[in-house]
Order: sequence, then C-alpha cells, then structure tokens
Amino acid sequence: MSYQAIIGLEIHPELKTKSKMFCACDNNAVGQKPNTLVCPICLGHPGTLPVPNKQAIEFVLAAGLALNCEINLNSKFDRKNYFYPDLPKGYQISQYDEPLAKNGFLEIDDEKILITRIHLEEDTGKSFHPKGKDETLIDFNRAGTPLMELVTEPVIKDAAQAKKFCQKFQQILRYLEISQADMEKGEMRCEANVSVQKVGTFKYEKGAIKAKAGKKLNNKVEVKNINSFRALEKAINFEIERQTEQLEKKQEIIAETRGWDEKKNETVSQRVKETSADYRYFPEPDIPPLEIDGEWLAHIRASLPELPSKKIERFVREYGLSQEAAEILTADKDFANWSEQVISELNAWIEAHGDEADRQDKKLAKMASNWLSGELMKHLKERNENVNDLKMTAENFAELICLVYQNKINSSAGQTILEFMYNNGGDPTDIMAEMGLEQLDDEAILETTIKKILALHPEQVTQYKKGKLNVLQFFLGKVMAETNGKANPKLAKEILEKLLIA
Ligand code: ZN
Ligand code: MN
Repeated sequence: MSYQAIIGLEIHPELKTKSKMFCACDNNAVGQKPNTLVCPICLGHPGTLPVPNKQAIEFVLAAGLALNCEINLNSKFDRKNYFYPDLPKGYQISQYDEPLAKNGFLEIDDEKILITRIHLEEDTGKSFHPKGKDETLIDFNRAGTPLMELVTEPVIKDAAQAKKFCQKFQQILRYLEISQADMEKGEMRCEANVSVQKVGTFKYEKGAIKAKAGKKLNNKVEVKNINSFRALEKAINFEIERQTEQLEKKQEIIAETRGWDEKKNETVSQRVKETSADYRYFPEPDIPPLEIDGEWLAHIRASLPELPSKKIERFVREYGLSQEAAEILTADKDFANWSEQVISELNAWIEAHGDEADRQDKKLAKMASNWLSGELMKHLKERNENVNDLKMTAENFAELICLVYQNKINSSAGQTILEFMYNNGGDPTDIMAEMGLEQLDDEAILETTIKKILALHPEQVTQYKKGKLNVLQFFLGKVMAETNGKANPKLAKEILEKLLIA
C-alpha cells in the first residue's frame, strides 16, 4: 500500500517595525535587558487601550500583495483566549475570520503553493527555565511585537518542498524589508501540519483535502519547535516515517502537537491538539474594525520592490545569464543590486571598447557572474560579511573583470588582486602594476623562455613527439613557474605546441 504525505505550514515572522503592535514601546530588543521595553499596554494592565501600528498593517498588506493575495478591505482584530504565563493579558490580539490577506500563492518550481491567509497578531513574552533551578523567568520585551502569520493550504507534498517554500518566503520578506526572518534567531517560527494518507482515499477540494466516499482520513499532527530550515525538513521527514510505520501496524494516528527535539532527532508528543473552539475567539472590543483605504493600498502596491522571481527573469533576459546563475546572484537583494551595478559598468565598457562578438554572446556578463558568485561570494562567506561592508566599489570590481577579460592578467593574478581589493579597496590597474602581476604576453620573451625549458627536458620532448600529448601540461607548469605565474597561458600553449612539433 502506498502513502502520500499531506503538509500545510503556519509561519510566523516577526515584523521589524519601529514600535510594538499596540503601544509605543521600542520593537528592537536586541541586546536590551529583560523587561526594560515594556509599558502598561504590552504588560496587559487593566484599563489600557491598544492602538494598532499602521506600519505593521502596511507590512502585512505589502506581503499580501507580493504573495498574490486578495486584500480584505474590511478587516478586524479578534481576541484569541488562552492561558499561558508569557501571555500577560490572558488573550492574544489576533485576526480570526477577517484576515488582512487571503487566497494567495507562491510558486515553487512551477507549482503554485496556495496560501490560505495572512494575518496580523502580537507576539508573546519569552519564558526561560534556568538549568538546575526549579523556576521559570519571563522576559516581556518581546510581548506585543508585531507578528505576521501565514497559513498555506495542505498542498505541500514533501519535506523538500516545504523547506523551499519557507526559504522563498523568507527571501520575499527580506526583499520587502519587513522582516529579517532568521529562523535561528527566532525571528521566524514555523509549524508544520503533517498527515499521511493512503493513495486513492482522498481528493483536494477547494484547497482542502476530503475523504473519498466510504473512506476515512487519518489525523494530522502539528510539529512545533522548529528552529532552522534543516530542522523543518528533518522534522517533516521524521513525522512521515513515524506515521507511515504506525499505519502499517494498523495503529491510529493521534491528533496532537509534537515538538521537534534537535538532539534526539525526533518529534516528541507535547499535548493533544486544541481546536479553534477552545480559543473562544470574539471580536476585539477595544479596536474598531479596520477599513483599508484604496488609495493607501494602491500606494503600497506601487512601492513594492522588484521581487526575486521577476529579477531572476530579467537577469536571464537582459544579461544572458543561466537561470541558475541568476538565482545565485539574486538570493540577496543587496548582492543582486551590487551585481547589477558591476554588470552595467561592464556593458558600458563593451559599448565603448568591445567588438560585435562580445556583444552577441554576452561573454563579459557571464564572466562577471562567475566572479561574483564564485570568488566574491567566497570572500563574503568566509568573513560573514555582505556587500554593504565592501571596501571596493562596483566600478573597481568591474575593472578587474575587464583586466581578466582582456588577458592583461590571468585568472590566478585576478584572484590575488581581488583579495587585495577586498581587504584594502583600490584600483585594480594600479594594484596590478604595483604587484607586478601584469600578464606576460610578449611573444619573443615567451619563446626564449620556452626554448630554454625545452632544452632542459629532452626526455619529455621525445615523449611528446612519440604521442604522449599530456606532457604539454608538464611544460605549461614549468613556463608558469619560470614566469611567476604571469605567462599568458593561451599564448604559452600555442608557442609550446609550435616548438614541440618543430
Ligand atoms: Zn508597551
Ligand atoms: Mn499565530
């Protein structure tokens, strides 16, 4: 009997607004002492009134538009009632039946993953359980941080697709500059609803799964405590396997909430799943219903940045890059913008100096893309920096690519210059001159050098003449050593071939 996993995601990114969701407290708690960014409103004192944060609403509307949602022009807030020590009011202000955005989608590998809704709510405080002590400490600095919640339809088919969805969603949040959404830092939390069904027992109907006549669906399990993309993938795979084994043993799946245990690499039962009835939702009486102004929405739509999928498309079309190269360059918005400055510098250069062939095959743009995604990214990763930290300008970098392109330096000299520029900034042509890295392509000098080398190795020359052609590499190595790596490799190879046959 074969099984199919059915996965839905609930993702909570924290929004990086200036102030909290319903009060004027600072929303940036990084490096702050516990319980210093609090006020009577976010501590839930009686008699206080919440005032919604306009920037937070704007952020959710932008996300809704970027994710192809319908925007609810008549929205409202609701109370979600539950008791937990980190929830000072005894309820969370959230949105129940009128979320700000609904019915959207995000495309993953040409498949549309349907988004049920995106709504706005507030975060809770944080509990700490000091080791070896029988006590719990609570920090309310995070209480009242604006939290966006995105819910997908149960249409995700495996762990890899779930992970990709989450990564793409994070990328869009970063492009919109509404959340850093770093899972490791708790800025984005992700829960997965996972069930396993027998193939042929269910169908998708309006985004939900329904049992076929005479069949029964297996229960789903909600997995929490997921702190990275990798954990998300592992937790889902673990659940699919666990549930499949249960079903094969004819055991029923319990509808419950399970937590991912990173150390044990397994999910652990936490509690029986509550249903929405347990929360006794009702409209928030202290906040009037929201009416979204059409002009405001149009303004938000007009100010959306170019999103990753469009940028990738354009990089492929305008610069002749492969899909893969364009994806790498656009992974981070700032890196994409910097790359684009480099490439447009190079295009300007080609207009001025290049020939028709250069223009046709877009060779220079491809070369730039290789240097950007290879050498430059390597340095950035090694130092855990981003393009905004760079000492060199896009213009300097473009000039370096031109030097390699024109064969004024070979690629290993290019790497040396890049490393120097990375550390100190500067003009690559000057650095090349100072370091004496200019490529040696004087034919007469190269010929003299090569003749000298051949005379020193008569045995290898004979081998070559007998047909052992890879001896050429041996000689090329000698030429490079003799010229301190400065010989133009293409020219050296041509001269070697000519002299070896002679
Ligand atoms: Zn406050
Ligand atoms: Mn929520």
